[in-house]
Amino acid sequence: MHISSKQLKPDIIIIGAGIIGLSIAYHLLETDPKLSITILEKEKMLGLGSTGKGTGSIRYQFSSPLLRSLSLLSRDFFRNFESALDTPIEYLEKGGLMLASNEDLWNELQLTKEQADADGIPMKLLKEEELLKDFPYLHRGRFLGGTFCPWDAYADPFAVLAGLYSAVRRKGAVVHFGWEAMNIIIEGESIQGVETRQGTLWGQLIVNAAGPYAAQLAATAGVRLPVQPFRRQVYVCSNPIDVPPATPLLLDLATGFYLHQEVSAKAILLGGTDQYTWPGFEVVVDKSRAEDFFLAAMDIVPSTIDIKWLSTYTGICEQTPDFSPIIGEAPGLHGFMLANGLSGHGFMHAPATGRIVADLILNGRTGRIDVNLVHPDRFVKNPGHIK
Ligand SMILES: Cc1cc2nc3c(=O)[nH]c(=O)nc-3n(C[C@H](O)[C@H](O)[C@H](O)COP(=O)(O)OP(=O)(O)OC[C@H]3O[C@@H](n4cnc5c(N)ncnc54)[C@H](O)[C@@H]3O)c2cc1C
Repeated sequence: MHISSKQLKPDIIIIGAGIIGLSIAYHLLETDPKLSITILEKEKMLGLGSTGKGTGSIRYQFSSPLLRSLSLLSRDFFRNFESALDTPIEYLEKGGLMLASNEDLWNELQLTKEQADADGIPMKLLKEEELLKDFPYLHRGRFLGGTFCPWDAYADPFAVLAGLYSAVRRKGAVVHFGWEAMNIIIEGESIQGVETRQGTLWGQLIVNAAGPYAAQLAATAGVRLPVQPFRRQVYVCSNPIDVPPATPLLLDLATGFYLHQEVSAKAILLGGTDQYTWPGFEVVVDKSRAEDFFLAAMDIVPSTIDIKWLSTYTGICEQTPDFSPIIGEAPGLHGFMLANGLSGHGFMHAPATGRIVADLILNGRTGRIDVNLVHPDRFVKNPGHIK
């Protein structure tokens, strides 16, 4: 393979061709088409990281103002994706339903609704009877109420990834598959380049977009990053008989259980109850959890007793101690930009992350969010962030 000197010393090196790395490259090149960007991806093809395992939910109903603002910042990107990038992504605003089974959660939902109103996000409160009228397949007596947001949506993660990949290639980015960043080279307090088995790439600006592997990569530069990998199991099942097509995403706030119906309405994806597993990269399916899982599912949607369990797969989620992302330059290491720990929301927040990182790289600042909320040094300045 011929490698030009620009490729050996690009303006920016991005490590990781998942949705975060590609979104950053896209937003950088959209603002400055002359930039030379090289993306290193350790896998031999697209979509083998977390992004390819995601269930594609996009939602606005968050109690965290930061997470709401990241969703709002990402909204137009998803809505305009098909026309702007000329790629179908099955984007569908089918709404989302957050369910509260106790007083605390019901109060939290009411507060979130007030705050969402102020942000301009439409959220409707549904008390138990209204909830059961609109969604009669829910377990009677299980929920005090819920909230419905018609903006909550679905898009196909792999299609978005593929669309971004083609777009950044068209804009001139170079993507090397099968190139693993082994070691970040530093001199004093500055980045100098990155070593791979294929050779060294020199460059003074490196973006860590390594998803669940972000902490390992950062460690090669002496940076301690509180991002841990957690296994998430997804059960693919036949659609319950009483759940109609285009049903919204259901999320039980107490257990984390979600029901996500595929666009075809022939299958559903169930998961979310394995929130408290140990950190690690193990992706073997653990069938011993299935019984508890399906019992929990029946307690929420009773007709799941009759569904067919088609398959199960696992993916890895990258999580920070406070469930907010880490975005910004690594403290004490000039030129090492972090875009990590999206904590289960990396698909829906990738457009916002890409824009913010592009602002920080090109202008040294961003006015889109309060960067202190995502800055990497919050864990050092305030150890209370680490639970
Ligand atoms: C089961 C499941 C369901 C999910 N559902 C949703 C959802 O509905 N909505 C939502 O918003 N989010 C969801 N998520 C979370 C979302 O998928 C992730 O937050 C997001 O994909 C992270 O993107 P990323 O680019 O950071 O990571 P990745 O997609 O993992 O990309 C990182 C890339 O970096 C590469 N890499 C790592 N280390 C190196 C190295 N040293 N050198 C070169 N390359 C390297 C990896 O191979 C990988 O391709 C889900 C996650 C899982 C597991």
